[in-house]
Amino acid sequence: MASEPNSSVDEEKDLPFLISLLDKEDKVEFVQKFRKDFQQQIEEKKLSKTAYYKFLNGYAPSDERVLEIAEMDENAKEWIIERVKEKSKKALEIIGRLRGDGSVYANYTSADKKVQVKAILIEEDEHGIIKISGDVANSSEPNIYHVKILVINDWVSFSCSCEAGAHGFLCPHVIKLYNVYRKYTNKFEEVEEG
Ligand SMILES: [Zn+2]
Repeated sequence: MASEPNSSVDEEKDLPFLISLLDKEDKVEFVQKFRKDFQQQIEEKKLSKTAYYKFLNGYAPSDERVLEIAEMDENAKEWIIERVKEKSKKALEIIGRLRGDGSVYANYTSADKKVQVKAILIEEDEHGIIKISGDVANSSEPNIYHVKILVINDWVSFSCSCEAGAHGFLCPHVIKLYNVYRKYTNKFEEVEEG
């Protein structure tokens, strides 16, 4: 089933899959954080008090239980997504390091805290052409901009999906991504931010 191309948009399986990635510590924290939802389940006779006290004492609830809570509380669902996101980032970072394929999932904020690099991927082909791609955001808004930078010897070309970028201007997203790239390679001079 996992090999079906559209399996990634199967909502009925998406949330259970994310929940399956939580470990015992995550679930125990989840109970503490969403006590009120568990208490509501007691009132609705969906959960016994004994089970609830067990959870409070460090027993992990089942995936099915966590799913029920996530389906009744949007914040709980959001919490699960965030937790798995953090873990995935860490996992990808480790994989990138172990494989040395240059992919790094990052979270860098610029010195003035205005621009944030969410992800960066660095690829170098056999001709020495370096392709840097990344997701960059302004800290003040949710939009993610896609930045691409090509480095061919001393020649640099860039593009960004933001408005300034669409007009061919060098925007803060490109500068920040370039600087994060530089931190990894130390090959090029850092560009002034701001
Ligand atoms: Zn931009």
